Amino acid sequence: MNKTIALIPGDGIGPDVVAEAVNVLNAVADKYGHHFEYKNVIAGGCAIDKFGKPLPQEQLDICLNSDAALLGAVGGPKWDNLPSEIRPEKALLGLRGGMKVFANLRPAVMWKQLKDACPLKDEIVGDGLDILIVRELTGGIYFGDRGTSEDQNTAWDTEKYTRPEIERIVRMGFEYAQKRQKRLCVVDKANILNSSQLWRRVAEDVKKDYPDVTLSYLYIDNASMQLVRNPRQFDVIATSNMFGDILSDEASQITGSIGMLASASLGDGTGPGLYEPIHGSAPDIAGKDLANPLATILSAAMLLRYSFSMEKEARDIENAVNAVLDEGWRTGDIAGAKRDEVSAAGKLVGTKKMGQLVVDRIKK
Ligand code: NAD
Repeated sequence: MNKTIALIPGDGIGPDVVAEAVNVLNAVADKYGHHFEYKNVIAGGCAIDKFGKPLPQEQLDICLNSDAALLGAVGGPKWDNLPSEIRPEKALLGLRGGMKVFANLRPAVMWKQLKDACPLKDEIVGDGLDILIVRELTGGIYFGDRGTSEDQNTAWDTEKYTRPEIERIVRMGFEYAQKRQKRLCVVDKANILNSSQLWRRVAEDVKKDYPDVTLSYLYIDNASMQLVRNPRQFDVIATSNMFGDILSDEASQITGSIGMLASASLGDGTGPGLYEPIHGSAPDIAGKDLANPLATILSAAMLLRYSFSMEKEARDIENAVNAVLDEGWRTGDIAGAKRDEVSAAGKLVGTKKMGQLVVDRIKK
């Protein structure tokens, strides 16, 4: 299969981790007879330096004209004091809005080999965690009407949702639940917010099309508590932009390492999807061969699965990562408390070596 992939390395460790993901994609292409053509996209702080803005239209167009896009991360202290409309993070909103990717899928998976890094007790996590959060990405309070009064002493933001905006997220939640453990939890604040009550009405209507899926509801305050109290009760969670933002960070924290978590942002299927690790540009370790590339490599696996329907190839990458972890290889962030032990065993590795280990495993 011939496919074009837009690469958006971005800033900080972005270029380091994207380079490893490309090596892995190339190994997959060789093995399965595909051809991936890469188009480089300059976005984020590096685009501010080069063009004076974080996401020039022609850079976005490269993404729109590709079959999928893989992003590293954007931002860093160099650009922190710029006015908000030209900050690197604007590139993220520009990409999401421009590519019309309205749903963010974040699997929060705890790898059994990294159980030590999980801050929860053994009896709570059991054999591991596997939660999928479907977060609405282009609506709600982050995009609603906002303002500050003239005297600067009053400010407001508006949470507003329409039925179609909610329905496409809830439907996606049901679809994924159907392929997993058939449980969907809609998280909201329906005891107070009108917009949340609409989420519930829509979920009740959509439920009729998925009789095999059990639908439940939790208020956001309870859901964030349940996530640390009994995370294994969750299979798929569907929720609004802001609640999803907070819950998915909490879920990622309980899996142990930010360097392991991938994400996919998808639209209605007619345009390219956007895939990225959930971590940021980690300026503290940029260019030092210290970053864990596995979150980006796993994002590439999601890209193959969701944008190219290459399930076998995606699983090959995930199995390779699993095998490398089984063999004891660790970057610093996932070595955790056993760092000295891992180092003494010669298994503490950098970005490049970790990428190479996954490539070697795929080629086996
Ligand atoms: P961060 O995720 O970049 O880093 C948090 C901590 O985790 C740091 O100690 C970092 O070294 C470590 N870390 C992150 N990714 C790692 C990896 N792959 N391997 C090993 N360690 C890793 O978050 P931050 O420090 O809050 O933000 C840094 C910059 O990134 C900021 O400019 C922020 O705006 C930006 N950011 C970008 C994105 C994105 O592009 N999607 C997301 C979050 C933050």
